[in-house]
Amino acid sequence: MLSRRELLRSATAGAAALALPSFVRADGPKGFELPKLPYAFDALEPIIDAKTMEIHHGKHHQAYVDNLNKALAGKPELGKPIAELVRDYKKLPMELQGPVRNNGGGHLNHSWFWQMMTKGGTPLKGDLLKAIDASFGTFDKFKTEFVTAATTQFGSGWAWLVKGKDKPLAIVKTANQDNPITDGLTAVLGCDVWEHAYYLKYQNLRAKYVEAWFGVVNWDFAASLYAAK
Ligand code: MN
Repeated sequence: MLSRRELLRSATAGAAALALPSFVRADGPKGFELPKLPYAFDALEPIIDAKTMEIHHGKHHQAYVDNLNKALAGKPELGKPIAELVRDYKKLPMELQGPVRNNGGGHLNHSWFWQMMTKGGTPLKGDLLKAIDASFGTFDKFKTEFVTAATTQFGSGWAWLVKGKDKPLAIVKTANQDNPITDGLTAVLGCDVWEHAYYLKYQNLRAKYVEAWFGVVNWDFAASLYAAK
């Protein structure tokens, strides 16, 4: 695994201008909006149960959106795509940094997360498969490293497959709602390991959840993030 420092050295902030969910902007008529789930609540059963999806999307993600809009109310100059806002949150006035980091990060992460899953999953193939083999040796080694990152993230957070500027792939984990984009890295795949993502079905068995989660991964979407400039 590349160290975070090595990755940072290989990355630049400019590398992060990519296929970001620009559909979510603070200067829309209603501020940021909760994106529609691209499938029904029960579409990912039995791996992710319908109740978890309903609460996760309708309550947790909605709360990030609402709190972000509250924090940015009356500040039209901050009307930019969510990924830009989160990437550059450290340049914001001090009182906005926390709200944008946490609620903006939550909005960004979940906007991607829903698309990173699909009913039954899709096969990993093409350039991303080759890149994973090149970076990790085999898919199984990649998966083991990813599950380890997900299960060793202390408390709430995310495990990510990321790429740097020259497309080296690596696995990182972030706390709370931090997104690798803030470090100049591009998310290719991310797994939410907050308890709200799995507790109803898996209780404390985070490893079991992450292992099962691979069964709903939308590798086509991950490949589009990987391919994006
Ligand atoms: Mn979540």
